[in-house]
Amino acid sequence: TTVTTTRDTQVFDLIAKEQHRQESGIELIASENFVSPAVMEAAGSVLTNKYAEGLPGKRYYGGCEVVDQIEQIAIDRAKELFGATWVNVQPHSGAQANTAVFLACLQPGDTILGFDLSHGGHLTHGSPVNISGKYFRPTFYGVEKETGVINYDVVEETAKREKPKMIICGASAYSRDWDYARLRAIADEVGALLLADVSHPAGLIAKGLLNDPLAHSHIVTTTTHKTLRGTRGGMIMMRNDFENPFGIKTLKGELRTMSSLLDSGVFPGTQGGPLEHIIAAKAVAFGEALSDDFYDYAVQVKANAQAMANAFLSRGYEIISGGTDNHLMLIDLRSKGLTGKLAENTLIKADITINKNMVPFDDKSPMVTSGIRVGTAAMTTRGLKESDMEQIVVYIDKVLMNHDDEATLATVKEEINEWMKAFPLYKS
Ligand code: PLP
Repeated sequence: TTVTTTRDTQVFDLIAKEQHRQESGIELIASENFVSPAVMEAAGSVLTNKYAEGLPGKRYYGGCEVVDQIEQIAIDRAKELFGATWVNVQPHSGAQANTAVFLACLQPGDTILGFDLSHGGHLTHGSPVNISGKYFRPTFYGVEKETGVINYDVVEETAKREKPKMIICGASAYSRDWDYARLRAIADEVGALLLADVSHPAGLIAKGLLNDPLAHSHIVTTTTHKTLRGTRGGMIMMRNDFENPFGIKTLKGELRTMSSLLDSGVFPGTQGGPLEHIIAAKAVAFGEALSDDFYDYAVQVKANAQAMANAFLSRGYEIISGGTDNHLMLIDLRSKGLTGKLAENTLIKADITINKNMVPFDDKSPMVTSGIRVGTAAMTTRGLKESDMEQIVVYIDKVLMNHDDEATLATVKEEINEWMKAFPLYKS
C-alpha cells in the first residue's frame, strides 16, 4: 500500500497514556478544555491533506471546492456567535492571530500599550521575548496594588504620555471583566487602535455573559480552544470594517479596508496554507457554541468559578481582586507561606493540574512565582457542579497543607482517580 498501516505503537501508546492522564485527574489549567468527539473527528480528518492558500473562492490551489464550503461555514458561524461582520478563521493559534494584526497595523518601532505580563497579560502583548516586544516599543498598564483591579484613569494617563498606535486589552490571568467602552474612548483620545484579545473568556462573551468587546474595539482576536471549547487555534474578528488609517492603497489607488489588510496579515503576511482540518473543527465547535446547551455550559462555568473562589476565600486563601467575574482566578499563596512552583509540583502528585503564575508585584521569578492560576472551563465540560468545586478546593487545601506528606498525597490521588470515574470523557 502507499499509505503505511502499521500502527506506530511508540506514539499511540503515549497518546493512550495522555488520554488516561486527562481522564483520571482534575484539570484546572484555565486555558484548557475538553473538545467534543465531533470536534476531534474533524481535527483528525482527511482535510489535513489539503493545501488551500487564499480565502474561500479566491485560492491559489485547485480542488478547494469542498474546503471553501467548510471554511465559509466556520466564518458564518463565528460571525453569528460574536455579532461580527468580518472574520478570518485561519490563524493557527492565538499568538499567530495577534502577530497578523500587528503586521497589518503597525510599523517596526511603533509604540504599543498592553496589559503587563506580570499582572496577568499575555506574552504577545509586548513582552521583550516576543515579536511584539522586539519589533515594537512596548509600554504597559497594570492593576493597582491595593485592589488587584485595573484603574482606567491610570490607563488613560499612560496612553496620553506614551502615545501608542495600538492599545491592547485582554489577559491570560485577569479575573475581572473589561471596560471596552472606556478603553475605546482612551484609544480615540490618543489616536490609537483598540485591539481586544479575548482568548480566555471568548466562550462566555459569545453567550452574552460578559461585556461585548466587538461593540467598542476596532479589532478582536481570540483563541478557539479555551472557554470556547474548540480545537487549538486562533481567529480575528471585526464588527465594523473601516478604511485603514495608514493610507495604504490598492494597486488601483483606493484605500484598502482593514479587513483586506488583516487578511493579508494572516496570509501571506505571517502564515502559508491554512489548516483546513482545524478550520473544520472550529466550524463544528462554533456550531456547538451556538446551541442552547452551550449557554447552560457557559453559565455553569461562571457559577463554578464563583463557587470555587468562595471556597478558597473561606479557607483563608487570597484571590487577586477578591473574586472573579469569569472562569478563572489568580491565587496569591504568600499568605500561606507557599510558592507557585511548590504548589504546582505538589498538586500534580495528587493528579490535580494547575499552573504556577506570577501575581501582580511578585517578588519571585517566573520559574518560582507566588501564585497559581485556576479555571473551571475544563471541569465544567466534564459535568462538575458548584458542590464539586468545593470538594476540589478541599482536596487542594489538603494537598498544600500536607505538601511534604507523601502518604496524604497518595490517598488524595486515589480518591480523585476514583471520583473521576463518574465523569467519563471519551470512549476508549
Ligand atoms: N492571548 C491570550 C490572552 C492568551 O491567553 C493566549 C494563550 O495562552 C494567547 C493569546 C496565545 O494563544 P496560543 O497559545 O494559541 O498561541
